[in-house]
Amino acid sequence: MENLNQSDCLEQIEEALETIPSKKKKFSHYQKTAKGEDRAFVDLEKLETFWINTGTLCNIACVNCYIESSPKNGRLVYITHDEVKTYLDEIETEKLGTREIGLTGGEPFMNRDILLIIEECLSRGFELIVLTNAMRPMMRFQEKLLEIKNRLGEKLTMRVSVDHYDPKMHEEERGPKSWDPMLEGLKWLSDNDFTIDIAGRTRWGEDEAVLRQGFEALFNKHAIKIDAHSAKQLVLFPEMEENQNVPEITTACWDILNVSPSTMMCANSRMVVKRKGAEKPAVIACTLLPYEKEFEFESTLKDSSKRTYLNHSYCSKFCVLGGGACSIKE
Ligand code: SF4
Ligand code: SF4
Repeated sequence: MENLNQSDCLEQIEEALETIPSKKKKFSHYQKTAKGEDRAFVDLEKLETFWINTGTLCNIACVNCYIESSPKNGRLVYITHDEVKTYLDEIETEKLGTREIGLTGGEPFMNRDILLIIEECLSRGFELIVLTNAMRPMMRFQEKLLEIKNRLGEKLTMRVSVDHYDPKMHEEERGPKSWDPMLEGLKWLSDNDFTIDIAGRTRWGEDEAVLRQGFEALFNKHAIKIDAHSAKQLVLFPEMEENQNVPEITTACWDILNVSPSTMMCANSRMVVKRKGAEKPAVIACTLLPYEKEFEFESTLKDSSKRTYLNHSYCSKFCVLGGGACSIKE
């Protein structure tokens, strides 16, 4: 046994203490739950979907924006076309087999390189989904966007956020005078035969069938070509409130809940973000936790294939217990 002096001993005790969850608070220790059990983790299986955060600035400030975007939130700055190219090159050279690219913000059309980025992704043959509020930032690019869609749009989907079919509810979330510009943008997309999905919210607690009927009436009224009864064309998202009062997921939970780690978003996707003041973009585990340093990897996709420990209430509430459908929420 090695000879230890008192200061060595104290150091070792401190190190040991650091590995014990503090004060039995949930989600406070990376690999252990508050009860000291092994926290569940997810390994990246394949980078099926690569999300690009285009920056957190948005033309509006929604009440429940999960990424807290607004005209003032510059925590994630605009990613550039050249930076995106570097990642797409890496996908190709490392043969990562990525099928789909998602662009999310903020409002992606605030990013001045957005059309170059869209064109880059489509010309390389990726499926592309662009999450937008379809308001003025998008509409100022009508001509060029239409040209890109006519040339390369076969694999392009525009996902438009319409929180509720009732303008009052939509504006309760998005602010006054947000309905008409959205509707104008949505109609323009539909009239010009873009492939469109709608992202709605369930926060008002209505029955899903009622919600879908309400959306159907709205789409019929404005001749918008969307099937409100298709789960793909109208995706209804639950609210994402951070809540510590959810169970922590242990390694034993997968079998108990009969849920597979492979179905978690962090098993098949990553997102790149560019933090304000950072020299280069960073890759993070998923779209839901853009500000949590613990869920951040290095700057390359190759280095991001590490294990993700489910040390956040969202992991439990939305992914393991909630079915993980929030993967493409605006
Ligand atoms: S939900 Fe979308 S439109 Fe609303 S503030 Fe967030 S990014 Fe902007
Ligand atoms: S929130 Fe979901 S996708 Fe993100 S790290 Fe947790 S389990 Fe994975």
